[in-house]
This record gives sequence, structure tokens and C-alpha cells, in this order.
Amino acid sequence: METIEKANIDWSNLGFGYYKTDKRFYSNYKDGQWDEGCLTEDENITMNESAGVLQYAQTCFEGMKAYTTQDGKVVIFRPDMNAHRMYESAKRLEMPPYPVDKFVDAVCKVVKANLKYVPPYGTGASLYIRPFMFGSSPVMGVKPAEEYQFRVFVSPVGPYFKGGMKPLTLKISDFDRAAPNGTGHVKAGLNYAMSLHAIVTAHNEGYNENLYPDAKTRTKVEETGGANIFFVTKDNKIVTPKSSTILPSITRKSLLHVAKEYLGLEVVEREIYLTELSEFKECGLCGTAAVISPVGKIVDNGKEICFPTGMDSAGEISKKLYDTLTGIQYGKIKAPDGWIKVVD
Ligand SMILES: *Cc1c(COP(=O)(O)O)cnc(C)c1O
Repeated sequence: METIEKANIDWSNLGFGYYKTDKRFYSNYKDGQWDEGCLTEDENITMNESAGVLQYAQTCFEGMKAYTTQDGKVVIFRPDMNAHRMYESAKRLEMPPYPVDKFVDAVCKVVKANLKYVPPYGTGASLYIRPFMFGSSPVMGVKPAEEYQFRVFVSPVGPYFKGGMKPLTLKISDFDRAAPNGTGHVKAGLNYAMSLHAIVTAHNEGYNENLYPDAKTRTKVEETGGANIFFVTKDNKIVTPKSSTILPSITRKSLLHVAKEYLGLEVVEREIYLTELSEFKECGLCGTAAVISPVGKIVDNGKEICFPTGMDSAGEISKKLYDTLTGIQYGKIKAPDGWIKVVD
């Protein structure tokens, strides 16, 4: 790849927000098929006022990152996994799934068309990739739209941890995130719409995030609004909740592999009860945005569960997991086959 001139951006001071880049990809679904799709400079979408997405929230999305490795390559972390997940989300929302190989192709095209916005190695910043799909044709009665758009745009985002990995305080939410047999396991916009009131409430009360218990019994831990959770036992096992209403995080799946295959740790996926939280020695959230955010404290109806790692830094195992996975992402540690997609 020839060297390209980078955009004039103060990478280290970028936040996590929308930044308009040069090109985005879209493909329309009409008369029972997806068209070829193309890149465009137009960041606006014009659609009918009664579009499925506007009336009944028929939309799903994905999130992943591209970044520059130590040796100067631009890479994307496991985009095929996001493609498969979006395929499943679309099916659950009665939308026509976008083919997996075309998804990966589209994502690579958009990154390639916006190379000047891929932050340089060492800045801690990255290029966030947002594929999404929505019902674009008018509906009045409650039914799936007949036409859809699949679209991918990118936005440079800053380093997640600016002042070091500061542990979070979570609140066991009074609200529910995902009903049994509902849509908790797919990345549907509607899951986020209904979480906004809960997160604004939690922030107003001084918490960083909501930790949702299972909606049926409210006795087991599930996940936060936008990240999965894991715990470390006193004998260094990684424990993470098993439930059909959790969004299957690609970061979590990758971390479990790293724990087992790179760090030789035992990994257990099982139901985790609120009553056993005080027995763990470390806790962390995981997702694309931060990879791992350490958790220092969980508050359950006024009762504080404080992890022995405290409120100043991440635990030892969490740090090792973080360093190994980010090492793989930045090309410093050999990646498992198929994890790193080079954009060339
Ligand atoms: C996207 C998301 C995650 C994290 O998934 P990653 O693939 O690791 O980014 C976790 N929980 C919810 C509810 C999400 O929407």
C-alpha cells in the first residue's frame, strides 16, 4: 500500500463521536434482492416518512474497528464474525440478511476509501466501523417493510482510556434489558432505544453503567447495556454468564480463547448468581469499544460489592487479558488463523 497522507486530526484527543469521513457504502434491497451497492460521498439518507425503521424500529447494526498495526498495516479485527452476527439479527427482525462475504467486502471497501482517517499506530485511536440495515419502504400496519438499505460508514474515534484504565461502578438496574425469548441476543436498535431511560437514570445517580439481571428471576447476572461481563475467581478461573438473552460479544469470545490458549487459564461459562458476586477477585466489562473496562464496584439495591482490585486500576488477570488481546490486534503477538483481516 502506498503511503497516504493522513487527515489533520489530533488523534489522541478524539472522543467517541460521529465524525464525517469521505465515503460510505450502501446497497438497496428491492423486488426480493440486494443490488450491487456502491460508495457515495453523501452522508444523508432520504426516505419515506412511513419507512419501517421510522415507524416500528426495524433496524439492526454492528460495530467493529480498523487500526494500524505496529508494522504499518491497516487491519480489521474478525469482521466475518460481525457479518454472521448481523445475519442472525436481520433474520430475527424479519429483514433480508446481507450476505456474509459481501458484508466483509463492503467493510473493507469503506475502510480503504477512508484510509486517511485510520489513526496511526501508537495513538491509541482507531477507525470505528458501523454497518447497519433498516426497513426503508413505507408500512402502516405492523409488518416487515418490503425494501431495505444496508449501509456502512466509518468514524475515527479516540483512545478509550485517556487517564489509564479507571475501574467503573455498576448499578444492578431496576429496569430489564432483555425478555426471555425476546431480542437480547441480537444487535437491534430497539434494545438501545429502551435502554436510554435506564442509562440516563443510572448516570444521574452517579453510576457508570447498568448491570442487568435476568428478567425472569432477577437473581442472575447478564450484561450491561452495551458490553458483556466476566469475573475472575480467587483461583484464577475466568467465569462469564451463560444465558440465551445476552448479546454474543465477539470481544468476549476472543478473550475466552486468549485466556485458554495463550494464558492457560480455565474458562467457565455458567449461570452466575448475584449472591456470589462478592466471592470473585476481579470483574471486567468487554466489548469492541474498550476491549476490557475494569469494574471496581457493583451496587445492588444500596448494598456495595467491592472487588479487591479497588477503584484505581485493573486486576492482574484483566490486565494480562487486555495486553494479550490488544497485542494480537496490533500485530505484536501472533494471531489465531483468520482473526486479522488486512485491508490492501
Ligand atoms: C455490541 C454489544 C456488546 C459487545 O459486543 P462486541 O462484539 O464485543 O463489540 C455487548 N453487549 C451488547 C448489548 C452489545 O450491543
